Amino acid sequence: MAAADDPPIIKVSELFYSIQGESIRAGQPCVFIRLSGCNLRCRYCDSQYTFPDGESRSISAIMAYAAHYPDAIVEVTGGEPLCQANTIPLLRELKKAGRTILLETNGSLDLAPVPEGVIKIMDLKCPDSGMTDKMRFANLQHLTPDDELKFVLTSRRDYEWAVDIIRRQLPEAINTRPLPALLFSPVPTKLEPATLAAWILEDQLPIRLQLQLHKIIWPQTERGV
Ligand code: SF4
Repeated sequence: MAAADDPPIIKVSELFYSIQGESIRAGQPCVFIRLSGCNLRCRYCDSQYTFPDGESRSISAIMAYAAHYPDAIVEVTGGEPLCQANTIPLLRELKKAGRTILLETNGSLDLAPVPEGVIKIMDLKCPDSGMTDKMRFANLQHLTPDDELKFVLTSRRDYEWAVDIIRRQLPEAINTRPLPALLFSPVPTKLEPATLAAWILEDQLPIRLQLQLHKIIWPQTERGV
């Protein structure tokens, strides 16, 4: 059993410094804190290596790693980072250190405890992920104009579902204005970027087409490091 003064421990899949490949900050140098464990099993998941328990690290050790790159943005990702209770204290520490923090989350767990100022990049899982029924739509009310809402698309069916959500549900579900950035990201090998681009232009959608920049820079590796 942990003693009261034991340092908070987080299970980490990997820590690395690279170019941010996604979000509206794609292209910026970034410290990645990739935590292990995920409560979902999306059909297209490219991060299954994060499912088993990773290495135990204290929050102070993670902070020390991030401090090597003081000017970089910091992304806390997974797996699903909010599966671990000590993720919120980690986010608080990063905030105290004055870092610009991105939190990548799958949209299924409560965003209410996320500290103010952390930039949330939340997924809404489309039907072909197999995980739509796990989405917590109430999270939409916690998004701010600085946050991002991401739809990962595999098919025309996913696209039409996402467009319907954007046109019919988001204006009421999200109180904040302007709306968070809306990202459409095609699953490589399933949906051609050019096809998705044509659909977006045809429908004149106010969204951003997102390609995974790290996979373009480093096509020979899965993670881009
Ligand atoms: S939420 Fe992310 S890490 Fe978890 S199964 Fe889905 S794609 Fe994989």
